[in-house]
Amino acid sequence: MPSVDQQEREHFGQKVRLAIERIEGASEPVKDKAMPLDEHSIRQRLKTLSQDITSHHADLLELLVRFDDLQGWKTSGARHCVDWMNLEIGVGTQLGREYLRVERKLRTLPTLRALFRAGELSWSKVRLISRVADADTERTLCHAALDASVSGVKRLCAGYRWKEDINGSMSQRRADAAVLMAETSLQSAGRDIAIADRYQVIVSVDASELSAADTTVTAVVAGSDISTPSKRASVKGASPIARETARRLACDCSLPINTTANGEPVDIGRKSRIWPSAMARAIRERAQHCVWPGCTQSNHLHIHHLRHWADGGAASVLNGVSVCSAHHTLVHEGGYTIQRVEGNSQRLHEQFEQQQHTADISQFDVEKDLRNDKESFNAVRTLSPECYRFRVIDAQGQDIKAP
Ligand SMILES: [Zn+2]
Ligand SMILES: [Zn+2]
Repeated sequence: MPSVDQQEREHFGQKVRLAIERIEGASEPVKDKAMPLDEHSIRQRLKTLSQDITSHHADLLELLVRFDDLQGWKTSGARHCVDWMNLEIGVGTQLGREYLRVERKLRTLPTLRALFRAGELSWSKVRLISRVADADTERTLCHAALDASVSGVKRLCAGYRWKEDINGSMSQRRADAAVLMAETSLQSAGRDIAIADRYQVIVSVDASELSAADTTVTAVVAGSDISTPSKRASVKGASPIARETARRLACDCSLPINTTANGEPVDIGRKSRIWPSAMARAIRERAQHCVWPGCTQSNHLHIHHLRHWADGGAASVLNGVSVCSAHHTLVHEGGYTIQRVEGNSQRLHEQFEQQQHTADISQFDVEKDLRNDKESFNAVRTLSPECYRFRVIDAQGQDIKAP
């Protein structure tokens, strides 16, 4: 690990701003930094702006602690630096205390501090990591946080026994949280049963209609060579429904479908499409939330078949993945696909390395150093297996997390 000396730290903010100017210069010929109007430019600007603000935020915190060390706030008659912040720079007392706590902690965590200054780890992530990191664990936590959402970092920090929070009041809070979680999961177990019941509507659908392979749906009339279109899927007593909707409903519910062929029922409420409750619990427990990148939903989860049962997919823990209802709809009706990432850890690392090399110029030495550390990556993958287990592909075949 390179030592991040004082001078290097001074230069980080500058380097970031230079890099941002280069990025913006390349994508935006307009020199007066006019507000962009189209979606792509706005997205780019939001990302660079957030990185820039984060970098400034790091400067703010560092200067506040220096100011506090010098007791610069005394001359104005304030009793404490927090009071001074409250009056002079519009920072509320609770946030002010948090600023000082985090920055003092950052003095012992050079990697976290460097990534904060470079705008690579946001304030929301930094404050979470600073609560649990120590000299031994900060690199792993930082590495994991680079590609995680804020809620992912929160789960990471809360989900493991990090050394720093074992001693002290956190353990009591952890015990309280465990009791609360147990109660909540008991309640949601009850709720899940209710959800399944709600989906026990009768859907009539032709067997061939449910299969993804068969897009030009035809059925051969018995005893003749004439092909006729298959019936559209419909909800009993209501209107026909889209084929993809039928597939979604059939993906996770207990007795959803009367499958027919040539108008004859062939399969009513086939047992294999039911997720046994222990299996459903195991799948939900594995991720504990919707696996869609960045989604925080942890209640009312559906179980999605990675390979639909109508295409021969089994109701197995390996073939199931927990998603919220909105993302379940997106998968079936929005053209997205959830894929299992290759389980082989060598392949996985190759994929990961490819990702590193496509990274842009905003990557700094500390980040590069972390990303190229294979052992660190393996530790990260052990801590947050769900982040690397699945990927979501959009209708154009692109990984939605690709840069
Ligand atoms: Zn599904
Ligand atoms: Zn979701």
